[in-house]
Amino acid sequence: MEKSINSRYYLDYNATSPLAKSVKHFLASGDFLFGNPASVHSTGKKSKKYINETSDFLYNLFQIAPENFSIIFHSGATEGINSFFKGIALHHFKHKKKCAFFFSTVDHSSVVNLEEDLKVLGHDIYFFQVDKNGDFSEEQLIKDILKSSEAGVQPVINYTYVNNETGIVWPLEKAKKIKSMTNAIVHVDAVQVVGKIPHWENISLDLDAYTFSGHKFGALKSVGFTFLRNSIALSPWIVGGGQQGGFRSGTENALGIYSLKLALLDMIDNFKAVELQNAKELIENIFINKGIIIGKNSQNRNLNTILVVFNQTYSSDLNTRFDLHGIDVSKGSACSSGIVKENRVLLTMGFSKEESLSAIRFSFSSFLTVEEAQKISLQIQKVLN
Ligand code: PLP
Repeated sequence: MEKSINSRYYLDYNATSPLAKSVKHFLASGDFLFGNPASVHSTGKKSKKYINETSDFLYNLFQIAPENFSIIFHSGATEGINSFFKGIALHHFKHKKKCAFFFSTVDHSSVVNLEEDLKVLGHDIYFFQVDKNGDFSEEQLIKDILKSSEAGVQPVINYTYVNNETGIVWPLEKAKKIKSMTNAIVHVDAVQVVGKIPHWENISLDLDAYTFSGHKFGALKSVGFTFLRNSIALSPWIVGGGQQGGFRSGTENALGIYSLKLALLDMIDNFKAVELQNAKELIENIFINKGIIIGKNSQNRNLNTILVVFNQTYSSDLNTRFDLHGIDVSKGSACSSGIVKENRVLLTMGFSKEESLSAIRFSFSSFLTVEEAQKISLQIQKVLN
């Protein structure tokens, strides 16, 4: 329930989520799984058992098989994404081969900011554009990829399944088509998927890797996982004791890893897609005629995100007003060292600088009900009035 968090309406679930009830209960039991999973004594073995239990659970939930995919646990999606792309880049560099990386301009900064390092290793980077609805032309992308493959270069794509800023969904069918036409290696950024689209657990085994982050769905912070097709060769960036098959050295965070399973179980039990959709629509109706609702005309939006451009009002002002009314939202624009920056995603979608400075993102709990949405709507209306 939104209001229960420090008596505030917390509407920033795309940034992070509170802990799932099941995780809180487990922590309250005081069993912190401190043993090193590599140790052979009982305390170590206990941690290992909880990690294995979580792996089995993930294989089962996402219907993948260890024969085809490995699970790599890490400190969250930023690490997972860096390790995947840099790992492929390093592997090809060592074998004197070249990759062409295809990223979208609306990808998360953990993808976009790889550009410099991948170029240093001699690879090419291309950014594909999206339109004002956040969609892109797969025909054009396929053409561009085929052009790069002609030169004997390995194409690698990042495919953002659900966009964190706009909530626009790129169906996996589209990624499968691109893969089948180009034979590119496809990584899916699945960070904003769990509990935010119907049937979020249905993933396509035709694609090569998926990265998830626990803190977006109620698990502990700084823990995530990547499904990696076993046939994809990559050189690990994090080397050391050789844990996790050498893909990611370092003592595993057994407690964090187990919290993934607990939080996902909560999600499975409590997520009601239709209720969330209805609740979101109820809140969205307030914004009609008050601003531009991003992706309103798109066929593919997720269930929990509304990004609104309130023309002529700076998002920093609005954000403060929401804050004073007890509502936590995210301003679409970034602010560093006191300088307000435009929202990069909106700019690349073709919105003006002014528009990109006046965006507010509302992102809801997967468990939002219509009843709660009614209360939230009244509070939002107070701010807007
Ligand atoms: N990718 C997307 C789409 C995200 O929304 C985020 C976080 O906001 C990340 C990657 C990075 O995730 P993490 O916070 O786990 O590093």
